[in-house]
Amino acid sequence: MTRKKSFKSGYVSVVGLPNVGKSTLLNRLVGSRLSIVTPKPQTTRTTMRGICTTDDYQIIFLDTAGIHQPRDKLGRYMVDTARLTFQEADIIYMMVHCTPPGRGEKELIEQVAAAGKDTFLIINKVDLVPKNTLLPLIEQYGSRMDYKEIVPVSALTGDNVDKLLDLTVAHLPEGPAYFPEDIVSDQIEREFIRESIYLNTKDEIPYSTAVVIEDMKERERGGAYISALIYVEKDSQKGIIIGRGGSMIKKIGAEARREIERFLGYSVYLDMQVKVEKKWRESAQALKKLGYR
Ligand code: GDP
Ligand code: MG
Repeated sequence: MTRKKSFKSGYVSVVGLPNVGKSTLLNRLVGSRLSIVTPKPQTTRTTMRGICTTDDYQIIFLDTAGIHQPRDKLGRYMVDTARLTFQEADIIYMMVHCTPPGRGEKELIEQVAAAGKDTFLIINKVDLVPKNTLLPLIEQYGSRMDYKEIVPVSALTGDNVDKLLDLTVAHLPEGPAYFPEDIVSDQIEREFIRESIYLNTKDEIPYSTAVVIEDMKERERGGAYISALIYVEKDSQKGIIIGRGGSMIKKIGAEARREIERFLGYSVYLDMQVKVEKKWRESAQALKKLGYR
């Protein structure tokens, strides 16, 4: 007779300097599933949430995406980011290039160490260097802080990423699935569409508009298909959003798509329809509170 293993769950915060490969790793860890993204309230920064759910565990990945700060502002950015995402993290993935620690890395290490969380050092892009350079690197980084694990990976090729996942699950606390398995959280996509409407229309239009993401799925050719419903309160508003010969909706869609693609890092087919629904506010409020459909 086999006893069912206890379920594990937790948050993993992915931090590292720009271009170290955070998004690439996240996409690989979350696998074929679309990244699930949620904006953090009260900040212009966004934290991507990729959720990986199996029969045995659920990991929620937090990524400090969309931040492009120059180096001299790094310290402050790290402090802010730390406050935002470290608190909820069970594990911090601190990602570095496979090069010796420079000024940026040293600052990063200080901030991460101050958070006092279980930290994995992830040395990324090992496909770019000979294997024998890794040991000295591990020693250099290892002397600066205590890590739960030090894991060299290639986010690009996937080398050692399964191992990273195993080690992560081993460190996770027992806990329930915080999100339903089939959740499609779509706030970022929704916000980009709303922003595009806001930038392209005037007066009451932005405030009379609700955006609901109906469907998001991967396309066989790569990238994602996103279908969005734009709710307005009156026929006249529908006319304005669609524009002459569909020109306005085309413009809104093109700009939203560009932003969504830039954020997600892959191509998106965005399908939008406008509907008149006098009472959208009630249901949209409820949806927003839930954070998903
Ligand atoms: P982020 O700014 O930390 O999110 O970094 P990205 O994930 O956007 O990656 C930045 C660049 O590094 C992209 O061009 C990636 O393709 C590349 N990159 C990421 N991981 C690896 C890796 O393991 N090996 C190599 N050679 N390139 C990588
Ligand atoms: Mg990124």
